[in-house]
Amino acid sequence: RSLLSDEVEKAKGAKKTAEPTIFSKIVDKSIPADIIYEDEQCLAFRDVSPQAPVHFLVIPKSPIPGLSDAQDTDLQLLGHLLLTAKRVAEREDLSNGYRLVINNGPDGAQSVYHLHIHILGGRQMSWPPG
Ligand code: 5GP
Repeated sequence: RSLLSDEVEKAKGAKKTAEPTIFSKIVDKSIPADIIYEDEQCLAFRDVSPQAPVHFLVIPKSPIPGLSDAQDTDLQLLGHLLLTAKRVAEREDLSNGYRLVINNGPDGAQSVYHLHIHILGGRQMSWPPG
């Protein structure tokens, strides 16, 4: 069984709950992560199961479960997450390009219900994604 199908299986079993996710524990530093950027609103850290030579996540510190839960009041925060993604990508030497992904909900194969942007780079990406 491939890693990808494991990830999709995990995503299909994931439930949106009010419980804090593993990412809230990374935000409050109760579990470790390889954090590569932090400010008052967001955090960037390396994915524990990298799918490219460079694979990090940008997350808001506030626990919005997914993009479909974002509100008009999150406008500034969402823009900040995107700009943070591109700035950290620059610092990670991804000048030749990179891929941003937001998995949303079961069909999107979201497995952690704390909004996050994947940034993948360091190799040629293909299209369409699986
Ligand atoms: P999703 O499938 O929800 O879009 O992505 C969740 C991502 O979080 C996956 O790529 C997975 O490897 C990563 N991930 C899950 N748990 C942890 C963890 O405890 N630490 C880190 N650094 N990444 C994690």
